[in-house]
This record gives sequence, C-alpha cells and structure tokens, in this order.
Amino acid sequence: MSTTAVEITYPGIAAKVAHRERITRDEARWLWENASDAELRHLATQVRDRFHQPATCTYMVMRIINYTNVCVAQCDYCAFYKLPTQEGGYVLPQEAVFAKIDELLQLGGDLAAFNGGFNPHLPLAYYCDLFAAIRARYGNTIEFYALTIAEFMYLADHAKLPYSEAAEKLKAAGVRWITGGGSEILTEDFRARHSKFKYTVAEYFQAQQAIVDAGLKTTATMVIGFDETLDERLEHLERTRNFQDQTQGLASFLCWTFKPYFTQLGGIEISTAEYLRHLALSRIFLDNVPRIRTSVLTQNEQALNGLLYGADDFDLPVEDEVTQKAGAKISLDFDRILNYARNLGFNPTYRHVPE
Ligand code: SF4
Repeated sequence: MSTTAVEITYPGIAAKVAHRERITRDEARWLWENASDAELRHLATQVRDRFHQPATCTYMVMRIINYTNVCVAQCDYCAFYKLPTQEGGYVLPQEAVFAKIDELLQLGGDLAAFNGGFNPHLPLAYYCDLFAAIRARYGNTIEFYALTIAEFMYLADHAKLPYSEAAEKLKAAGVRWITGGGSEILTEDFRARHSKFKYTVAEYFQAQQAIVDAGLKTTATMVIGFDETLDERLEHLERTRNFQDQTQGLASFLCWTFKPYFTQLGGIEISTAEYLRHLALSRIFLDNVPRIRTSVLTQNEQALNGLLYGADDFDLPVEDEVTQKAGAKISLDFDRILNYARNLGFNPTYRHVPE
C-alpha cells in the first residue's frame, strides 16, 4: 500500500503557525527555498508575538573578556588562537580582568562574558579563583557568562572530572551561567571538517545537560556562513529544539555570522539578507525558545533589522577579540545603534541582569 505525501505549501505552513503548531524540518526547508522575505517576516513575527509585546525589544551592554588566547583546538575558522608553543600567547591576570569590568561599568554595561581558548596550562582552580574573586568584588553589580560550553568541556576533561562535578565546582565559585557558545554548527560532519579536536556533538549535549542538571543557566548559539549545507543548518536547529523539549534549559538562541578574515578556512562573508532570513527561520522553527537574539557584534546596526525577522533582543558589544581578529568592527556609539532600532518602530529597553 502506498501513502501519498502531503504537499507542502505556504498557506499550509501559515495555518500551522497561526494555530501554534510546530513546523517540521521539511517545512523549514521549504520555507528557506520558497518563501519570500515578507512571508518569513510575517510568520516569524507571529511566533515572536507569542513571547513578547509587539514593538518592544531588549538589549544589554556586554564585554567579552578574552582571558587567554592559548588554545590547542586548532579550529580552521579561528583567527584568534595561539598554540602553546607560539609567540604572542597570553593569560590575563585578575587585575586586568577587573580593569576590563570596571571599564564596562563606566560604559553603562553590566554583563561580562568570558571566552578564551583550550589552554592546557590553566587548571580548574584558575577559573574557580577568578570567578570567586569577581563575585567577591562585584557582588550582583554585574553578571557574567562564565565560559562557553566548549571551554567548560575542555577544562572538565583536563581536570579529569565528569561534567557534572565540574559544573558543581564552578557553581560553588559563584558561576550562574555557562553559555552555549562554541557550538558553531552542531553536526558531526561539520565538527570533523573544521574542528576535529574540539568535541563531538553528542559530547556537547551531554555537557549542556550536566550544566542544566547542576542548576546553572545556559543558552543556545549558532554560527552560519562557513561551508555548511542547508541540511546542516536544519540539523543544528532540530537538535536545539529537541534539547529544549527535554530540558527547558535554554534561555535564548543567538545566531551570528562567520567572519572569515585571517582565518585558515577563509571564504566570503554571507550577506545580511541571508542572515536575516535565517533568523526568521530560526524564530519560526524554535517555537520553544523564548528569546531570539540578533548579533550587532557581527552585523553592526544592520542586525537590528532582525527585530522585523523575529528577534527580540541584542547586545551592544564593547569588545570581543575573537571576532575582531577575524574582521568584526565594534562601535561604541550606542545612541546611533539604538536609534536605528527606534527608527524601525521598536522601543529598546535595557535589561540589567540576564534572565
Ligand atoms: S574557536 Fe575557540 S576552541 Fe577553536 S581554535 Fe579558536 S579559541 Fe580555540
């Protein structure tokens, strides 16, 4: 007996979204290949409106603190790292970290995000001491994203601890957040092609599960614009949605674009138009993630057009050596960026401590 496949159409998908039904991976593929920008915006805004008041958006002022650039992972898309044997490697002392946080506070920000390399010379105690010292010095005046999952996995492995135990030790040192950074594209093929020393996708989600189980907060991220296929993008989104179904642990989803300059991989940046379409598709597909963030760090104020494509939140970045080394340009003219959002009809509101 043969079954007849139901034809995928825009009215069919639109009816599902209007009824708060989940779209399938095949429907997401159809939207990417066939829907107009206006159709994607329309559907993404409907999903956005389930979580947020129309015409509102939120933002934070964030400084990424790159505490070390020494790394053994050797990802071919990275222009930031130095091998332990290379000249130019560094580890920031605590005083230098404090100075960066003080400057962030002066600029009106209160979110620091730590991002460094897989440095074999840094034991778990370095991280615990640093984070405990920050809590002792700043209390709740600032919040910090302590590491990405990728770094968390490396330091747990390096300390020969299960992820659960490493998460508990960091929590005891005052850590509340470990973000989903370092995920790029979560397919085993992508990891084998571009960062085979980093982790497997299965390990990534084991670590994120341990983070959630320890009572820490976490997020989902994604980077597009390497050589990933549409199927790989969809696999990443589906794995993210499945993880959220199981845990409800993801506070937000942030996607940004690969900056190819000075990297071994190289290539050409994807267009803002492609980024915006992907944001919309992510908003429609990730119907269980409350917050979709757009990346000013890699798209400058053009990122704020993402508010029309389903995003509701963004950072005003102060510094990030990783993306700056690969070509990102950061502007501290916050008023200009916020006015861009206002001119689109949105009322940006500062959110002080990440929820
Ligand atoms: S992306 Fe991160 S893990 Fe990969 S080489 Fe660069 S610093 Fe290391």
